[in-house]
Parts: sequence; structure tokens; C-alpha cells
Amino acid sequence: MTDLKLFNSLTREIEPFRPVHKGEARVYTCGPTVYNYPHIGNMRAYVFADILGRTLSHKGYDLTHIINITDVGHLTDDADAGEDKMEKMASEKAQSIWDIAQHYTEAYWADVKALNIRQPAKWSVATDYIEEMLEFAKSIADKHCYELESGLYFDVSTIEDYGRLARAVTEDGEGRIDTVEGKRNAADFAIWRKTPVGEKRQMEWDSPWGKGAPGWHLECSVMGEKLLGFPFDIHTGGIDHREIHHPNEIAQNQAFCGCGGLSDARNSGANIWMHNNFLVERSGKMSKSSGEFLRLQLLLDKGYHPLSYRMMCLQAHYRSELEFSWDGLTAALTRLKRIVMLVERIADAPSGAATDHPKFAPVLEKFETAIADDLNTSIALTALEDALATKKVDAGIKRAVVERIDSVLGLGLFELARTDLRIRPKDAVITEEEIDAAFERRKSARAEKDFAASDAIRDELAEQGVEVMDGDPLGWEWRLS
Ligand code: AMP
Ligand code: ZN
Repeated sequence: MTDLKLFNSLTREIEPFRPVHKGEARVYTCGPTVYNYPHIGNMRAYVFADILGRTLSHKGYDLTHIINITDVGHLTDDADAGEDKMEKMASEKAQSIWDIAQHYTEAYWADVKALNIRQPAKWSVATDYIEEMLEFAKSIADKHCYELESGLYFDVSTIEDYGRLARAVTEDGEGRIDTVEGKRNAADFAIWRKTPVGEKRQMEWDSPWGKGAPGWHLECSVMGEKLLGFPFDIHTGGIDHREIHHPNEIAQNQAFCGCGGLSDARNSGANIWMHNNFLVERSGKMSKSSGEFLRLQLLLDKGYHPLSYRMMCLQAHYRSELEFSWDGLTAALTRLKRIVMLVERIADAPSGAATDHPKFAPVLEKFETAIADDLNTSIALTALEDALATKKVDAGIKRAVVERIDSVLGLGLFELARTDLRIRPKDAVITEEEIDAAFERRKSARAEKDFAASDAIRDELAEQGVEVMDGDPLGWEWRLS
């Protein structure tokens, strides 16, 4: 099988994947901060991590994938000056942080399920690791940290190559983060934030530096180390994390290991750091502060099947920016529907056939090469379409080839029906049963050559927002407009 090559953000190079532990792959993915619903841009990060995990499984590695849930410590401001996002939302809603965390974690999990993202080995919840965070912080405090009134700060000048992942300039200008009075270096960051005197936070714990809460970067260092051990294989996150969160995690990891500089990637805590690029949207609906922000639920309310969004993600390379538009989503849905129509033709074939048939060799070669080339899902999709278009072949073998490709792409093609992919807006005034009944009546009228009745039924449907699509090349019978 083709060797897997991945782009390492730390070296900015494509590198062969060489597991730290023979036959295993250990992956850590920075998870959501559960103070609000995830937007579909956030979900792109998990679709990407899922494709990575599926590829590693496909390549035969025994995968341990961890995704964390951040329920404390993530501030509204990168420069350690803002509020904790969780505390802020809890006070705005006058609810307990724990209830907020539970509600939004469940909402996130619903999106994970809807997008066919596989369950990781563990969802590690930050507040379950406070003891371990304190131990970690104590072990690096003397050599690498200093105390200010507001907390315990990490001195980035105490380790080599700080900021290499971001390619940041730390002296002056670019990459500068200051704000907190008394920092030794502009990029120093809080690893423990003390509760200000006279205040009471919902989430606070005792520590050698006073009551307070852990810094966000500390959480991921600790959960990565505890659950996967340093160095593990791959650390993932969105491209914004390449600038601050991950350089800070790396600095802590170097301090914890007593490791040297980053010309040896293992000193960073992980061999490979991978980052997905952003999903962008012109009108600002990706921002959680806007009223109607782009949640997966909004796509569902407008009648789109959630996997049309997964399809949209697969069409782009994870390292390129992807622009969201409703037209783009409709195009992805149509492409998925064409694929599903072809899959329906082989759905009755028995499963479990071998895939090594000469007719499919070029298709499988194309697929394996694409996916091994830094997860090129857009080419892998064309290999899937090539497989489905292959003529005069045994349906069982075709099914096996499609299943193999889909085990990586994760579209769940054999569980989808063409009718699932109809656009069904939540606010439609007519039900599907009513539409089907009208279509039956129209069919009978046409069979009896009563074209006046048939046209009347079409007009009635149009009044209720249903467009009849006679002779549609993609086989849609109707759509709600
Ligand atoms: P957060 O809940 O803010 O910590 O973000 C969860 C994940 O989504 C992180 O990996 C972010 O880097 C990633 N992310 C945030 N915005 C976007 C976006 N517009 N497109 C893709 N990934 C994003
Ligand atoms: Zn993280």
C-alpha cells in the first residue's frame, strides 16, 4: 500500500508518517469550547480529524484518537485579559456553567453524529483533569514560570525556539501579545489564572498560587501527555491554533520533558502538527455573535441533509480555505445524490467480495495515492465516481470497492437513500405525504389522459411552494422552492 504522507505544520513540509509505537497511531484533536453551539466552520475541523483517523485505520494502524471538551479556561481574549468564555455565557444566561457545558457538549455531539464523525477513543473533559494540571504546572513552575497578581505565567524565553510553529517574531511587532502588566516577554501566557480578590467564580480550585482556574493551553498539554504520552504521533486543530494555542502548548511540553529545541519535532510533544484551514463566509454569519449564525441546525432547517455539508468539506483540500455558500452546498448535495443513485443500483449485491479485480485496479490505485498524499479527498471522490461508473462488472465487487473507499470518506453511502437527500425546509407548509398523494393523483390523471386535471394538480402544488420537475436529468421529481 502507498505510504502515508502528511503535511507537518511544524516543519512546513510533507513528511512520511512513521508511528512512534509500532503499528499504532495516537492522535490528539483540540476540541470545542462548549460555551455555545459549534458553527459549521468548527465542524470542518472535526470532519478533517475524522478523515485523518479513518485514513490511519484504513492503513492498518491501531488508532487511539482523543478529542477534548474545553469546559474551563478559554478566554475571550488571547492576551490573558478577557473573561472565561464559559463564565461569561453562564452569567449572561443566569445558568450554572455545568448546565451550559452539558447542553452545548450534547449539541456538539449531535453534529458529530449527523456528520458521520466517528467516536474517538475518549472525549476528555478538561475539568476532569484539574489534579493532573496542577501536578504538571508544579513540575515546571520553578524553572519556567513566574507569579503576577493575576496568575502564574510561563516565561517563553526559558525554552528554545518559542513560536516556531507560528513562525512568529516575538521581540517586537508581529506576534506580539502583551496586555497584562508585568509580563517579562510580550508572548508570556498564563498557565494558572487566579480569581481576583473579592470575586467568586463558579469554577475555581485551590492551587499553590491561590484559588483560580487553569489556562486553556495547559489543559491540552496535560490531557495529551496523560492519555497518549509524549511524544505521540499527531496533534490537530484549526489553523488559528497554529498561532498561539499550539505554540504555547509546545512551550509547556518542552518544559515538562526538559526537552531541547524544535529542530527535533519530538521535543514538541507530538511528531506531526496538522491544521485545517478555515471555512469562510462573506456576510459574517460564521461569527457566533451574529443572530443567525451558521450552525448545522440552520442547514437542516433549510432542508439540507447534513452529509451534504460533509460532502462540501471533502471537495476541498483540508489545507485550503473553503468558502461557504448556499449554492455551493446545493451543488455538493446534488453530487452526493448522483452518487447515491448509483450506489442504490448495487445495494442488493452481497457484501464481502474481494476488491482485487483488474477492472478496479486503476481506480483503487488512484484512491490510495490520493488519500496517502496528505489526505487528498477531492481526488479520492473522483476515484469513487470512477468506481461507480465502471461498466460490465460484478455488482458485488463494485460494492466492495465502493465500501472500501467510503470507509475513508465516511459518507455512509449504503445507509443513504436518494429520497433522504430531498431538500425539505422546516417551514414548508405541505408534508411529504401530501406531496406524494398529489403525485399519485397526477399520475392517474395523466394515465387517463386528463391533462387538465394533471395541470390543475401541478398548479395547486406550485401554490404551496412545490415545483414539479418533470424530466429532471438528476431524477428529482419535485423540490420545495
Ligand atoms: P473552538 O470551539 O473555538 O475552540 O474551535 C473549535 C475548532 O474549530 C478549533 O480547532 C478551531 O481552530 C476550529 N475553527 C474555528 N473557526 C473555524 C472555521 N471558520 N473554519 C474551520 N475551523 C475553525
Ligand atoms: Zn487544545
